[in-house]
Amino acid sequence: MNRDIEVLVRKELLDLKSYEEPSLPAGVIRLHANENPYPFPETVREGIINQLRDLEISRYPDPAAKALRESISGYTGWPAAQTIVGNGSNELILTLMLTFGGPGARVVIPGPTFSMYKIVANLTGASVVPVSLNKDYEIDMYTLEREVKHPDTKLVMLCSPNNPTGKLIPLEQVAQICQSTQGLVVLDEAYYEFGQQTAVGILQDLPNLIILRTFSKAFGLAGQRVGYMLANDAVIAQVKKASLPYNLNAFTQSAAKVALEQSAEFAPQIEAILADRNRVDAALRNLPGLVVYPSSANFILFKCTQRPAGEVFHSLSEAGVIIRYFYEASGLENCLRVTIGTKEENDTFLEKLSQILTR
Ligand SMILES: *Cc1c(COP(=O)(O)O)cnc(C)c1O
Repeated sequence: MNRDIEVLVRKELLDLKSYEEPSLPAGVIRLHANENPYPFPETVREGIINQLRDLEISRYPDPAAKALRESISGYTGWPAAQTIVGNGSNELILTLMLTFGGPGARVVIPGPTFSMYKIVANLTGASVVPVSLNKDYEIDMYTLEREVKHPDTKLVMLCSPNNPTGKLIPLEQVAQICQSTQGLVVLDEAYYEFGQQTAVGILQDLPNLIILRTFSKAFGLAGQRVGYMLANDAVIAQVKKASLPYNLNAFTQSAAKVALEQSAEFAPQIEAILADRNRVDAALRNLPGLVVYPSSANFILFKCTQRPAGEVFHSLSEAGVIIRYFYEASGLENCLRVTIGTKEENDTFLEKLSQILTR
C-alpha cells in the first residue's frame, strides 16, 4: 500500500485544518477558554463521588439519559421529551449539521462568532454563508434577512451572548429571523447563566427554533463534556435519527445531574464572575490604546489601537497570562478576548497588560 492517503479522503476535508489547542504548562493563568475559574464546589464533588460509587459501569448507560433530561427540564422549564443531551454542545452542533446540513445546504452564520459552526458545516459539505455583523457587532437585519430567505437555507447559527463579542441578540430579532426563514434557527445560549436572557419562553411559538446550552461554562464541567438541545417535537424527531445511542456515558449523565440538583452552589461563583467582569471592563477602559466592547458573558473582547494585538498577546503569554488571540478571523483584526478569572487572576492580567501597554 503506497497510495496517497489524500486521494482517499473526502474532498470536504482536503482544505480543512484540524482544530488544535496547545497544551499549556502548569502554573500559567488560563484566561483563554471561558471556563469557570473557581474550584469545583466541594459538596457537588462529594455528590458526584457518591453517585460514582454505585454506578453500574459494566452495563450500557441509559441510552435516552432520561434522569438527566428530567433534571434539565426542571432547570429550563422545557419538557424532557423535547430535550436532547450531547457530549458537549459541540457534539450537538455536529448532530444538527448531520441532520440538516450536507451538500447543497446553506448554513447562514452572522459573525464574527464561535468558529465551530463553520468548521462543522464545512465538514458535512454544506455551504457556509457568512454575514458580517455591523461595526458594533450587532446583527444587520437587512442583510441577514436577505440571506435567510434563500430557499436553500437550512440552518441559521446565532449565538447569544455571542462568543467572542459578548453581545446579546434581542429576542425580538431572534423571533423575526425565525419568521423570515424556511430553515431552522439555532440559538446557542452557552453563556446564558451570565447574560440571563433566554429564548425558552418563545420556543413553543417558534417551531423552527433550536436552543443549545452547555455545562462547560457556568457549571464548571468543561472537562466532563455535556450539553443539551431544546426544540419542538418535529425537530427533535429528526435530530434523534442522526444521534448515536449511548453518546453520553454513565459517569457524565450522573455528574451533570448532580451539578444541576445543586445548581445553587454555582450562584455565588457566577455572581463573583459578573462583579469582576464589570471591574475588569472599567479597568480596561482606563488603559491607553484599547477599545472595549461591553459584554453580557464571562469574557470581554477588546481591540488594540496602538500596537498589534499579536504582540500584546505574546507579551502576556511570556508573563504567564494566556488569553485569546484571533489569528485569521475576519472582523476581529487586532482584537483579543479575555475570560474573567478569579479576582487574583484578573488583577495579575490587568497589571501585566498595563505594563505592556505603557512601556
Ligand atoms: C464554549 C462554547 C460552547 C461549549 O461547547 P461544549 O462542547 O459544550 O464544551 C458552545 N458554544 C459556544 C459559543 C461556546 O463558546
